[in-house]
Amino acid sequence: MTEVNRTNEIIPIGCESLFDLSVIGLLLISHSGKILKGNKAAYHLFGGSLDLEGVPIKKLFYTDPPFELPKLLEAIKNDSSLGEHMLMLGTDKENAFWATIHISPVASNNKNQDTFLCQIQNVSALKQATEEVNYHNTLINELINSIPDNIFIKDKNSRFLLVNRSITLLMGACSTNELIGKTDFDFYPRKLAQKYRNDELTVMNTGKANLNIVEQVIDQDHNRLWYSTSKIPLRDSEGEVIGIMGIGKNITDLVKEKKALRKAKLAAEKADELKTAFLANLSHEVRTPLNGILGFSQFLKKTIPNDPKTSRYLEYIIRNGKRLLHLISDIVDLSKIECDQLTLSQKKFNLYELMNKLNRSLHLMLEEENKKDIKTYLEVDPEMESLFLCNDDQRIEQILHNLLSNAVKFTEKGSIHFGFSGKKNMLRFFVKDTGIGIDEKDAKQIFGRFTQVDNSLARQYEGAGLGLAIARGLVTLLKGSIGLNSIPGKGSEFYFIIPE
Ligand code: ADP
Repeated sequence: MTEVNRTNEIIPIGCESLFDLSVIGLLLISHSGKILKGNKAAYHLFGGSLDLEGVPIKKLFYTDPPFELPKLLEAIKNDSSLGEHMLMLGTDKENAFWATIHISPVASNNKNQDTFLCQIQNVSALKQATEEVNYHNTLINELINSIPDNIFIKDKNSRFLLVNRSITLLMGACSTNELIGKTDFDFYPRKLAQKYRNDELTVMNTGKANLNIVEQVIDQDHNRLWYSTSKIPLRDSEGEVIGIMGIGKNITDLVKEKKALRKAKLAAEKADELKTAFLANLSHEVRTPLNGILGFSQFLKKTIPNDPKTSRYLEYIIRNGKRLLHLISDIVDLSKIECDQLTLSQKKFNLYELMNKLNRSLHLMLEEENKKDIKTYLEVDPEMESLFLCNDDQRIEQILHNLLSNAVKFTEKGSIHFGFSGKKNMLRFFVKDTGIGIDEKDAKQIFGRFTQVDNSLARQYEGAGLGLAIARGLVTLLKGSIGLNSIPGKGSEFYFIIPE
């Protein structure tokens, strides 16, 4: 037999050279455990400088071996499997290494002198790699077990390959091992298990993940729970689908909350409808006698003109009656706006005419408030005077009326300007006064219902805090937006923009 060595030199192969060619460390040992001969690899394993021949093999064990060598050698003669061991070898700490040793009897010429072959392989690197893999596996196991969601991996037949603690508890198993190899059919009613299987078949057949499937699960105590589960195809290194991975989150509380919320919303909507109907009835019931009181008061005022005291009292009744009438219709309007019960009408009208009508009522308001000195200006671009709109004229009038009556209320001297302008199919309306103004922090709140800058009982100005809330509701209904620019002490400009 011949072999080519690394320098391409042909060398003859006999038992001796085979012994030396082996990359595994080989030691021939006597029955007493003395080394008779070692190959190059063995010399190399123990540092190369030690002369192995004649040395008791015990000297090469870095730590005490878990066996008594002479007894072991005796036993190996009958049972060769006893010769396999993994232990630390090395003559000192620096050169110690993990090794697998395999001791086997060797046929010898001398029948009384048993010889053994000890094969040694350095497995330190392998052991370290295995330990690292084990460490990482432990970390991953810890991680998936501490996640409160259900995590599982199934094979093509939907048999569990891996499960975490959470799903184990949910399915009423004592340990994760109890689930391995089983399917949902072993735990759930047939119909439910079949649904899960069908979902998984679809994922495996299409190769597409099915995310956030909301599904019902029954736990060990037969409680119905809701889970949001994602199932993702599991592929091998060739990309072939070999099963599925899944993660499921318990959303029972969320589903219950949603149901309760929906119920509460329906109840609130119903209550809102009832409230509006009630307010509409009440409004009718209050308005009828109130109109009677107002009508007769006005009649009396005309028929007894010469009595100033009675006239003052009647004036008082009329003024407060009107306030009450106004408040009632504001409350009904706001209630309708808030529960979407207000519908807009469509009518073709001339906007400039509407502005003139508002200008007349502005004068009346100023007159009633004894503020005739306040100057008023209606500002409309002459080109826009012929503009016709197809919209709800009454609601636009109502918004402007609310803004104008506030301007009158909160202005003592100076002027009130109002008008509109148009740009890019949008109309911008404004009401500008030289009144008390509003500071920035209050400006954010005044469009809310019942909100007033001065909420004290002794406040100077009348009002229920509904005018701007109604204006904002109506502007929103008209698909527009409302805003305000103001300087405290100097005045305010309220504006709203709606599509033409
Ligand atoms: P109110 O009936 O109280 O006027 P509004 O909703 O119309 O209710 O107005 C809310 C609050 O906004 C008013 O109480 C006032 O404090 C402030 N406000 C509204 N318009 C003006 C204005 N033109 N100038 C100053 N403050 C105003």
